[in-house]
Amino acid sequence: MRKSVRNLVGTVTTLVSLTGLPYAIYLLLAKMWNPQGSPANKRRAEPSVSIVLPTYNEERIVENKLRDIISLDYPMDEVEIVIVDSSDDDTRKIIWDFFADRQTPELTLLEEDERRGLAPALNEAYAAASNEIVVKTDCDSKLAADALQEAAANLADPDVGAVTGRNVDVLGGSDVEEGYRDVQATIQTLESHLDSTLIFHGPFSAFENKEIVPIDQDSIADDTELALKIRKNGKRVVFDPEIRYKEASHSEFSKRRAQKDRRAMGLIRLLLRNRDMLGRYGLYGGVVLPFNWWFMLVSPWLLAVSVGLATLTGVLLAGPLGLAVPAGVGAFTFLGSRDLLGSLQPIFAVFDTQVSLLFAAVKLWRGEGSAVWDVDEELRDAYE
Ligand code: GDP
Ligand code: MN
Repeated sequence: MRKSVRNLVGTVTTLVSLTGLPYAIYLLLAKMWNPQGSPANKRRAEPSVSIVLPTYNEERIVENKLRDIISLDYPMDEVEIVIVDSSDDDTRKIIWDFFADRQTPELTLLEEDERRGLAPALNEAYAAASNEIVVKTDCDSKLAADALQEAAANLADPDVGAVTGRNVDVLGGSDVEEGYRDVQATIQTLESHLDSTLIFHGPFSAFENKEIVPIDQDSIADDTELALKIRKNGKRVVFDPEIRYKEASHSEFSKRRAQKDRRAMGLIRLLLRNRDMLGRYGLYGGVVLPFNWWFMLVSPWLLAVSVGLATLTGVLLAGPLGLAVPAGVGAFTFLGSRDLLGSLQPIFAVFDTQVSLLFAAVKLWRGEGSAVWDVDEELRDAYE
């Protein structure tokens, strides 16, 4: 009995250290090398821009989004807005009214009779976009005034084919998300300086038009998929913290699940479908993709097994008191989702993401992962 408990303790310790090893290496690299900002050779440029905006039943917020776009600091006669709308509410009418007596920017409104999901809608919109650079933005987001200029400056580097930006302020005040965004910004800056980053963000992703290729019709990681494909075709795809946007999110554990699990499913499926890229494409396939494989596909399971084994060890050692382990995890989750963990909040944020990735893998395995989802009404309150 003694011996088996000691073995269990050893196993748990090994598992936890093994899980943490890639993170430690990444953190160490980030600390020692300390790369800052975008790796692109940025240069002032004013290319023509197509802004792609997908909408599904956004009648509450679409007008504010359009106001936000036309007030961007960029010559509007260089801008066209391509909206692909699949709504059955008043979104379309609001858009037509908004542009009724406006000369610039030019509007292309693609009206879908039937909602088929975001990926097919985006493929239509990208095909219709005719300007040099294409900026995709979600309706439920706000962009900094200089976002287009910053994106253009990155894409002026001939080696760079796509650029995404940073969430500087989480609307609705979710510290959980804020903590995670800081960790993510450090990681994505590091990845970009190594070669290219994996994750592209819905509120702001910019692409060179001539690099755009169709995405899978069932994609639920559309922006990331397009960026990955552009990297596959040769150009770098980078993160620039100078491109700033705001997005709303929930703190509460249960409310966060639907969106986070769906996004996680999209990413896992994308990695699995493109597993042939591992080990190729320079440091992208050599370091960046393996790290993300670890983070998304391996470490959530190692963590789950660790918690399970630690509980077992605790019960063997201390009887019912051993349940302190799952109780501790529960308390951590309870406090974390109420933003009460102070400086531990970012760790909770990473934990919360790992939970999503675990659920996502199970859901995918059960055949879930539809490209059509319920748009979160509550999150839209922040944009009214
Ligand atoms: P989330 O941020 O990942 O939760 O995704 P959202 O539900 O906020 O959707 C992102 C953007 O895509 C928003 O602008 C939505 O209006 C839009 N959208 C979602 N589903 C569809 C769809 O089926 N068709 C179109 N055209 N747009 C969609
Ligand atoms: Mn959204």
